[in-house]
Amino acid sequence: MSTNKRRRTKIVRAGIGTDPAYKAVMPPLYLSSTFQIDGLSERGAYEYSRTRNPTRDELGKALADLEGGIGCAVTSSGMAALTLLLHLLEPEDLLLAPYDMYGRSYWLLRALAEKKHFRLKFVDFYSDAGLDEAFSESPRMVILETPSNPLMRIADIAAVRARAPDAILACDNTFLSPILQAPFTLGADIVFHSTTKFINGHSDVVGGAVIVKDDPEILNTLNLWNNSLGTIGAPFDAYMTLRGLRTLEVRVHRAQENAETIAAFLQNHPQVETVYYPGLASHAGHEIAKRQQEGFGAMLSFTLKGEQAEAARFAEALEMFSLAQSLGGTESLINHPASMTHVAMGAEARAKAGVSDNLLRLSVGIEHIDDLTADLEQAFKAV
Ligand code: PLP
Repeated sequence: MSTNKRRRTKIVRAGIGTDPAYKAVMPPLYLSSTFQIDGLSERGAYEYSRTRNPTRDELGKALADLEGGIGCAVTSSGMAALTLLLHLLEPEDLLLAPYDMYGRSYWLLRALAEKKHFRLKFVDFYSDAGLDEAFSESPRMVILETPSNPLMRIADIAAVRARAPDAILACDNTFLSPILQAPFTLGADIVFHSTTKFINGHSDVVGGAVIVKDDPEILNTLNLWNNSLGTIGAPFDAYMTLRGLRTLEVRVHRAQENAETIAAFLQNHPQVETVYYPGLASHAGHEIAKRQQEGFGAMLSFTLKGEQAEAARFAEALEMFSLAQSLGGTESLINHPASMTHVAMGAEARAKAGVSDNLLRLSVGIEHIDDLTADLEQAFKAV
């Protein structure tokens, strides 16, 4: 059995049987903000929950195990994870990041670069010309988001690693989760997540995580900033996320199966212009995705024939897909990136990234596939 598969079994049993007090099968939730110490020279592992908390540690251990890293900083959101990561940079350092990344991440990077926290270049990682231009100067850090949000573009992680052997390579693995992509095996140094999405998987927690492959110094620095900035995840959120994590593999596989059927359905539909799903042979990143991913995931986007008004009518007519931000839950969602998730980018950056007004993004859930396709069909009729 592959190491990756063994890791998936480990998460089902993460922390089980470790309760020192009552031998509870499931690891307990420690809400206490503070822990008693026996004396000034007899310090236990825990003193104050912003610094360390047993429930948060349990989740961090499980996520590090699952990605194959040495440790993890658990944060209060995916944006907090990115904030933490950016604290590894000095003002003179160059950061490369995708020109088409998640809108709020794009906003944060641009705003902090304007404040001179680091130097920033937004990059087209999907073409040789874009890569040649990007690496004309050596970056200190490269951030990848692959597949990208919302157009599912695929960056070749190993190829980027080869171009920047000395940079810190950090991958946002939110869209695929560790079940479908293992960035450390492709050369990444850091993996980060919005655990709000597939990892928690039930749309009832906002959280994040930064996982370090093998550098204890980087891990220490991230933990120090997490403690000092107070970007830490709450114990209750960690407990819920660990609970969701146990079923990650079955959820992701079922949702992916549904997404594959929906992608094929949309591709053959006369009211659809283009479908963006890496599993389709027509997708520009299909060959790379086939090589570097263990599946094509449960996220896809498509453009409807028409304008924003048609996209709105379609989204509003759906009953099985809730019109909502976010993704990666058991329930199916539809999102209009131009007016929802990517509004913070601004119109100019959106146009450059190809986020058009008739683009819709689906987060496919684990409902019965016949209900999902029937719902899409009735919504097409309503347009
Ligand atoms: N990264 C990606 C790819 C996302 O889609 C999101 C949120 O949608 C984030 C990061 C930010 O995560 P959060 O909303 O948990 O702060």
